[in-house]
Amino acid sequence: MPAYDVIVLGLGGMGSATLFHLARRGLRVLGLERFDLVHEHGSSHGLTRIIRLAYWEHPTYVSLLRRAYQLWRELEELSGERLLHVTGSVDAGPAGGSVFQGALRSSELHGLPHEVMDGAELHRRFPGYRLPSEMRCLYQPEGGFLLPERCNVAHVVLAHSHGAEVHCREPVLEWGATGGRVWVRTTRGRYEAGRLVVCAGPWAARLVPELGGLAVPERQVLAWLQPARPEYFRPDALPVFNLEVEDGRYYGFPSFLVPGFKFGKYHHRGEVVDPDEARREPEPEDEDLLRAFARRYFPDGAGPTMMLKACLFTNSPDRHFILDRHPDHPEVAIAAGFSGHGYKFCSVIGEIMADLARDGRTRHDVEFFRLTRFAAAP
Ligand SMILES: Cc1cc2nc3c(=O)[nH]c(=O)nc-3n(C[C@H](O)[C@H](O)[C@H](O)COP(=O)(O)OP(=O)(O)OC[C@H]3O[C@@H](n4cnc5c(N)ncnc54)[C@H](O)[C@@H]3O)c2cc1C
Repeated sequence: MPAYDVIVLGLGGMGSATLFHLARRGLRVLGLERFDLVHEHGSSHGLTRIIRLAYWEHPTYVSLLRRAYQLWRELEELSGERLLHVTGSVDAGPAGGSVFQGALRSSELHGLPHEVMDGAELHRRFPGYRLPSEMRCLYQPEGGFLLPERCNVAHVVLAHSHGAEVHCREPVLEWGATGGRVWVRTTRGRYEAGRLVVCAGPWAARLVPELGGLAVPERQVLAWLQPARPEYFRPDALPVFNLEVEDGRYYGFPSFLVPGFKFGKYHHRGEVVDPDEARREPEPEDEDLLRAFARRYFPDGAGPTMMLKACLFTNSPDRHFILDRHPDHPEVAIAAGFSGHGYKFCSVIGEIMADLARDGRTRHDVEFFRLTRFAAAP
């Protein structure tokens, strides 16, 4: 008999949630993490992550988001911690742009409460924003932010309470699967289980070579700048945002935990990196790029730098997630390619991956996220 029912490889956002959902179902689970339980080498650090319902990327995400919100609230109850802060969210850009149009489409299709306004009205309501008045802005009251490090820890603490075993600072070197069983070799030992779930973030393609070119790490940098008018940048005054402007898409948050307006640019400097070699120390070019954005659209938030942090996205070719079983090994499930917008979904993806590992299928509609969509046309 294998020692474990399921091994979860990687305990970042997705792996910690998967571990919890498996353990609460009474399965014998082992979680393996190559770094510390809380670390800054992957994708889930940096104090806050946006959660929003008016999903401009594609309306198919909205039903998953509804379940994600429920599960985050449940996690708060179980852990006794506040993990999700509601600020409202703004999706803004040119009238015909993908952010505004996509958010509007998701809101209309799913009957989400929302308001549409121009840049001038947005400034009157939330004075930290100084967008050109012709910009179209969709405000959605349920948007907000999560505390990723605390969420990951909460999932692991609750998994522990259901008997999960967790080994940190134990990198997985290789794995194999045959005849309904899997084995995993780490720097410290060899383990067997019935199933394996790979949640390795930027290292996904290292562990599953079939993901080569489909889960590509990219360097990002975030800034926290001291606001000249801190009252405009408090969580009750500044909704989180996604903003499409001339030189790309930006996202941002109110000041929280660090006295700084926090924001970043999607696909920052377009730097594809090796996750073991990526430059972690932010550079003057990173800061200049971000500061120019704040000066223009959030001038009251563009004061002295409080903090800069590098982080990694893992991009799929179409920027949608990969949730599937391994093409050759049905014992292995894969969660990868979250393309810079996955954190808000960790709670529900943990549930989905637990379903795929235990039952081979899930009640959630994950057809859109299958690996087979990338197969070459015949
Ligand atoms: C700067 C930035 C801002 C973002 N903002 C948002 C946002 O506002 N909202 C949102 O929804 N999403 C956001 N995202 C995206 C979101 O954070 C990610 O999609 C999510 O964190 C991915 O989680 P993961 O579990 O796949 O990866 P990770 O959290 O990186 O976890 C992977 C884990 O696997 C471990 N691992 C890898 N290889 C091995 C091995 N061989 N052995 C053992 N362990 C291994 C790693 O150490 C790591 O802990 C942002 C991402 C970044 C980088």
